[in-house]
Amino acid sequence: MKDNFNREIRYIRISLTELCNFRCRYCMPEEGICKKRHEDMMTEEEMLSAVKVATRLGINKIRLTGGEPLVKKNIVDIVSKIREIDGVDEICLTTNGSYLSKYAKDLKVAGLDRINISLDTLDKDKFRYITRIGNLDDTLEGIDAALKENFKKVKINTVLIGGFNDDEIVDIASLTFKQNTDVRFIELMPMYDGGDFGKEAFVPYSKVIDKIKEAYKGKYDDDKIIEKVSGDNSSVAKLYKISGAKACIGLISPVSNHFCAECNRIRLTADGKLKPCLHSSCEISIKGLSEAEMIEKFREAILSKPEKHDVLSYKSRSKARRNMNEIGG
Ligand code: SAM
Ligand code: SF4
Repeated sequence: MKDNFNREIRYIRISLTELCNFRCRYCMPEEGICKKRHEDMMTEEEMLSAVKVATRLGINKIRLTGGEPLVKKNIVDIVSKIREIDGVDEICLTTNGSYLSKYAKDLKVAGLDRINISLDTLDKDKFRYITRIGNLDDTLEGIDAALKENFKKVKINTVLIGGFNDDEIVDIASLTFKQNTDVRFIELMPMYDGGDFGKEAFVPYSKVIDKIKEAYKGKYDDDKIIEKVSGDNSSVAKLYKISGAKACIGLISPVSNHFCAECNRIRLTADGKLKPCLHSSCEISIKGLSEAEMIEKFREAILSKPEKHDVLSYKSRSKARRNMNEIGG
């Protein structure tokens, strides 16, 4: 179905839970979250009904996210049930990777197509600092486990944080030489309460290109060091490749250059709210509704998609009124 700005909505991001085994500083408060009442969260049946309804409106790509989707003990079962729904072309997962070594094989068998794994640093201490709890080795093992399973694609997501990991841009980008994982640098988004980052933390994506050009200067002709490659239309990332690399570098710029004109997605939160736009406070509840009622709410959500979100900056926070773990990224 098309929205009011002629964008065909094909993609839904579903947050399966707000809970997480990490506490990333840009995403969630240190103390974790106030666990909501079980009866206020979407049931598995409601979530599966929502997927069926979404496919009836032409949505064919599903991304499972959270919080951390792999804290759901029945995650494999959830994937296999979604796989059975007619009209679902692709099931993708966004995860911090820490439980992937346990689940990668079963997720592949259940029908998961693609995995994005978050990795902000290659340094153990910095990893512990940014996640407040996590172990780098668990996530690296998770990436290895995913790579063994022959998913359509495994990508690394790195949130670019000035003063924290901008000195690692080249090291993280060079993972594209070692393994077949695209590495996507995402600009830090100033969420409702997601960490107290100062101006210097908000680094524009152009810094990635500059750092890579600087690092490889003299090794290749200047205009051959990193080249733009054409991406798939469903991606909001601008894709580049370093000369000789196996995989691509993706640059996602929600802050310095928002990509609203290409936005083809809606979101569903773990408490059953459709979000037409990541950075708007508009939410439409589908909790407790029948599929016939849900389809009207889905139409309303798609037609409520704003043309674009307000400008974001370290001073001008997202209007979402939720932290990222309550939305799903
Ligand atoms: N727990 C999973 C993970 O970390 O991949 C899935 C949920 S997480 C909310 C989804 C994505 O949002 C992650 O790639 C994470 O790095 C990103 N994210 C969270 N807060 C962010 C922020 N303030 N700015 C940019 N990206 C953010
Ligand atoms: Fe958890 Fe992902 Fe948020 Fe980190 S970014 S706290 S792993 S939900």
